[in-house]
Amino acid sequence: MNKMLNSGMVDKFRRWIEESSRIVLTCHVRPDGDAIGSTLGMMHLLQSLGKKANVVVPDQPPRNLAFLSGFNEISIFTRHEEYSRRLFAEADLIICSDFNKPSRQDSMAELTMNAPARKVMVDHHQQPDAFCDLSFSYPDMSSASELMFRLIAAMGYYPEMNLDSATCICTGMITDTRNFSVNCKNPDIYEILMRLLEKGVDKTRIVKEALLTRSLWSLRLESYALAEKLEIFEKFHGAVTTLDKDELKRFHYERGDTEGLVNQPLNVRGIYFSFFLREDDDCVKVSARSIEDFPVSKICEDLFGGGGHIMAAGAEFKGSLKDCRSILIEALPDYLRYLPSRPRKVE
Ligand code: MN
Repeated sequence: MNKMLNSGMVDKFRRWIEESSRIVLTCHVRPDGDAIGSTLGMMHLLQSLGKKANVVVPDQPPRNLAFLSGFNEISIFTRHEEYSRRLFAEADLIICSDFNKPSRQDSMAELTMNAPARKVMVDHHQQPDAFCDLSFSYPDMSSASELMFRLIAAMGYYPEMNLDSATCICTGMITDTRNFSVNCKNPDIYEILMRLLEKGVDKTRIVKEALLTRSLWSLRLESYALAEKLEIFEKFHGAVTTLDKDELKRFHYERGDTEGLVNQPLNVRGIYFSFFLREDDDCVKVSARSIEDFPVSKICEDLFGGGGHIMAAGAEFKGSLKDCRSILIEALPDYLRYLPSRPRKVE
């Protein structure tokens, strides 16, 4: 299973861990289940090896990960800046997980970049920057958590892995694959899942807590958006949903409440792309998803200067929600040619 890892690099990583006593793990801004799961999972393992290990994140992680052991001990840079700086200054090893360039850490980037310690990247995003001394970058992997497990196993630490570590790693894999429904072609991930279940992981609980549990207001907001604000452009096989500030306020919007909303219209037969436009304080947040390689990244780039992956992209539009919607809708005919030659009927 671990043939894909370079054994010389794995040996070096293990040696660096052995030589270190204070290890800091860090991840990207707006940390998700994979960012938190991979860092906390490795933290628990390192602690069981007798290391002092801390997770420092750029900003507040979401509440739905609070069930993970170690969550309350995470240092949040925007809240505990001085303490975070001290941890970085004293560290002799820094593990950068689930991000491929320093800018993904926003205002915390300089802290990571300027820290004197050795840095190891553990990541699955494309085109990584060379900012670490040792980089494990595998874009084919489902999650940074999957890669973290493979590294733990390859370094020979699987016997030391405890239930807390296994639960965190499993959470990262479950959230990034949406409970093994996307990015889950590689049979290896089911062997990894088996190894985690053998540690006693409660998968049902992880799915419920990390993936399904949400606030009542977020459920109501999504229901309202889909019932009242979803526009279907049958001729272009696309969907556009908009929410303005007043609507967000009416439903007590909190960060993360509209997560996943943009995906919903893609479940309709004949819909190939979906845009969600949300009015923010100083811009309109554009998020776009598609199926069958319809290039929403190109649309985000062409119209709003954004970007992303071909089927998952976004942008920030400086202007009104009304203008943003018009620009998008008026441009749709230009992208008809990217649809399959015989698209399914919308029904
Ligand atoms: Mn990830």
